Amino acid sequence: MTQIQKFLSELNENELAYFAKFKLHTYMPKTQLEIKKHLSKKGINNLKIEELISTNKIKPVQNGKEQCPRCFTDKLNIQKVELTNFGNHTIIENNIEFYDSLNGEPKYKSQIICNVCGFWVNDPNGQKPNSFVEKTTNYLKAILRGVIKNI
Ligand SMILES: [Zn+2]
Repeated sequence: MTQIQKFLSELNENELAYFAKFKLHTYMPKTQLEIKKHLSKKGINNLKIEELISTNKIKPVQNGKEQCPRCFTDKLNIQKVELTNFGNHTIIENNIEFYDSLNGEPKYKSQIICNVCGFWVNDPNGQKPNSFVEKTTNYLKAILRGVIKNI
């Protein structure tokens, strides 16, 4: 069983629908084919995807477990990331609580990404691909403004 097949086998119908809608296109064509095969085996087509999402039966749980606000799954990828505003490099460490010696603020926070639909639940360093594009665009705009001012 490949890694993606193992992952898909752990998803219920609703999770599969969200996965198909929001994450399928992020995979390599070969893997997409594998995913589509799995979906058709489960009888999940485009119509079914929309139907499952509009009537999502996964309900928010009350056990305090972190959940994705979009698809309500608790299959989340949680990583401790170093807050980059404390330095100019990013390292990813698991299970490290490290406090800044100067102000006692936590230096690490949880970066949480939904494994099912790819939703960024918590993005302490603003690393979400969209915000990266925005940041780059703003940076370029700032350079351009600087250039124009100096002419
Ligand atoms: Zn999700």
